[in-house]
Amino acid sequence: MKMITVDDFNFENKKALIRVDFNVPLDENGNVTDTTRIEAAKPTILKVLEDGGSAILMSHLGRPKNKEEEFSLSQICKTVSEVIGVEVNFVEDCVGAKATEAASNLEMGKILLLENLRYYSEETAGDVDFAKQLSELGDIYVNDAFGTAHRAHASTTIIAQFFPEAKCYGYLLAKEIESLDRVLNNSEKPVLAILGGSKVSSKITVIENILDKVDEMIIGGGMAFTFIKAQGGTIGDSICEDDKMELALDILKQAKEKGVQIHIPVDVIAADDFSNDANTKVCDIMSIEDGWQGLDAGPKSRELFDEVAKRAKTILWNGPLGVFEMETFAGGTIALGHSIAAATKDGAFSLVGGGDSVAAVKQFGFDTKVSYVSTGGGAMLEMLEGKTLPGIAAIQE
Ligand code: AMP
Repeated sequence: MKMITVDDFNFENKKALIRVDFNVPLDENGNVTDTTRIEAAKPTILKVLEDGGSAILMSHLGRPKNKEEEFSLSQICKTVSEVIGVEVNFVEDCVGAKATEAASNLEMGKILLLENLRYYSEETAGDVDFAKQLSELGDIYVNDAFGTAHRAHASTTIIAQFFPEAKCYGYLLAKEIESLDRVLNNSEKPVLAILGGSKVSSKITVIENILDKVDEMIIGGGMAFTFIKAQGGTIGDSICEDDKMELALDILKQAKEKGVQIHIPVDVIAADDFSNDANTKVCDIMSIEDGWQGLDAGPKSRELFDEVAKRAKTILWNGPLGVFEMETFAGGTIALGHSIAAATKDGAFSLVGGGDSVAAVKQFGFDTKVSYVSTGGGAMLEMLEGKTLPGIAAIQE
């Protein structure tokens, strides 16, 4: 599949209407506390400007109900200017007379930021008229917002139909698609998927879909206990989804039939309370006493996972191995980060993605030691589930 990207267009004298994901975290004074998402959109914006075009940026911020000031994108305008290195003008609406005037007066080489798309419920409803109004602001539509690519919203999907010959992916979205493709479809073997986190139920479709794509799989974190209990283990007070035990056994059976080696922790750090100050001890995962709960991978598991990671040539990591938010139970996730970093240094391609694992790799400084950190939590999970994302499909159609 040939991807159409900003590299396929010359933006000279063109207004690029770019859907970015500037849904950034703000402190109580409206200051941006993490500029990652703005930085991620920078190469696409600069390409447009360097060609001699102008950029109209559209995004959502939070989930406003009544155009509350706290969700206004005006708050981030200064930070966007600083990160991009070009002054950014702001217009206090995303459609209507003010937006139209600001867009038509925009000079080449300049950037215009529109007000929060979600001030209009038509955005999330995927309203066609609203999408058409937005489309009239620019000449070429660029989607560079992976974080919302799984939503059929007006600005992410519906709008694309108004640019039949002039729509493309930005660099960020193209890179996300390419990286996932490198893990799922064009991977070097052996391929390892590491799935952690709290619940089997939220990852079940992912597990089933990628069983066809991987050689080995580590199932860790809270999810592992459903598999252990289903196999007759005693898990004490550890987190478990009893109604998913059948499914867990079925996954193990499917894996066997498909020749996928599944690794589940063999020992855990058990705690007598869900607290950083709890008493802890190392337990065999099959025999955790009542009153104790497994909150992290134990030393033998870490060693086992290290061996598995180091023989992999392609690694996908989603979900922590323990309750990494508490220092006492972060060791398993940190150890795995080291193992993946070492495998990457040895030539493996490693992709980390999906909400909490991204927070974990950043917190522990592994973001620069893996091959790619995905910017989209939900979007990445849906791609791993084998779904076609509407925002991605809309550019191809
Ligand atoms: P998820 O959003 O499904 O990726 O889950 C991430 C959450 O799983 C994190 O907040 C972890 O604290 C939690 N988690 C990981 N391991 C365990 C465990 N053994 N018991 C309870 N929660 C866990």
